[in-house]
Amino acid sequence: MEIISDIKEMQKRSYGLREKGHRIGFVPTMGFLHRGHSSLMEKAREENDALVVSIFVNPTQFGPGEDYEAYPRDVEKDQALCQKVGTDLLFSPSPSGMYPSGFGTAVSVSGITEGLCGASRPGHFDGVCTVVAKLLNIVCPHRAYFGLKDYQQFQVVRRMARDLDIDTEIVGLPTVREPDGLAMSSRNAYLTPGERKAALTLFQALQWARKMVEGGILEAGTIEERVREMILSTNGASIDYVSVVDAEELSPVKIIRDRALLALAVRLGKARLIDNIILEAGNRQSNG
Ligand code: AMP
Repeated sequence: MEIISDIKEMQKRSYGLREKGHRIGFVPTMGFLHRGHSSLMEKAREENDALVVSIFVNPTQFGPGEDYEAYPRDVEKDQALCQKVGTDLLFSPSPSGMYPSGFGTAVSVSGITEGLCGASRPGHFDGVCTVVAKLLNIVCPHRAYFGLKDYQQFQVVRRMARDLDIDTEIVGLPTVREPDGLAMSSRNAYLTPGERKAALTLFQALQWARKMVEGGILEAGTIEERVREMILSTNGASIDYVSVVDAEELSPVKIIRDRALLALAVRLGKARLIDNIILEAGNRQSNG
């Protein structure tokens, strides 16, 4: 595995791989890697000739007062994990390399960025889209892999790639969970033991919502309300949002007709955790 921090060097290496006819799989990350990340890396390894992983804690996707400075970092452990899954090139640029003085461009996707995390973190998706557009231009991958834990991010990046004719297939892969169901996240490191127990409420609320739909409750408002009540009954938890939206457009729905997404963001101590589930009306159990 080679570690590259220079942007031009990374681009040169990608062009070289492409000239040789190698297919490049790419996994962008912010580091502090866990099994959620390695699931993307393993799939990318399997489906492509070369695996490029990036580690870059992108300052522009953090709002004022958010956790950019505190974001957990462990370079050595990350490098070991990248090596273990067979990464060819680990791209790890510096903030000043990515955003030199005079940098003045932002990529902004409208519509699907308005709700959910877009509403509670203004400017977040502009930061995400701008950095992902840059990374795709630098790494020139045939495929880029994203986790569905960040479902809105996946849809936004896919929309951006489509709208800008970026010649990279955007692949979304399922959420990897701890044995008890908590979605793996670098931010779980912020949780105290008590908060870690309480954090299970996110997964439990999602499972409960799925059962409601199976039982024939299809009104989004009812599901949202019951999920909110359940989360608020958990010690120390406060709600950022609980929303049932169309699974493609991410616009609010009143009744679940086909596929809907239940997405939630919950604060527990220093952590803001997100999770989601697809609710399918077709899965409801027949009562007759
Ligand atoms: P991050 O380092 O948090 O920016 O995440 C990098 C990529 O890993 C994103 O595409 C995330 O959606 C994905 N990811 C993070 N956590 C998980 C998880 N638990 N399961 C699957 N993918 C994940």
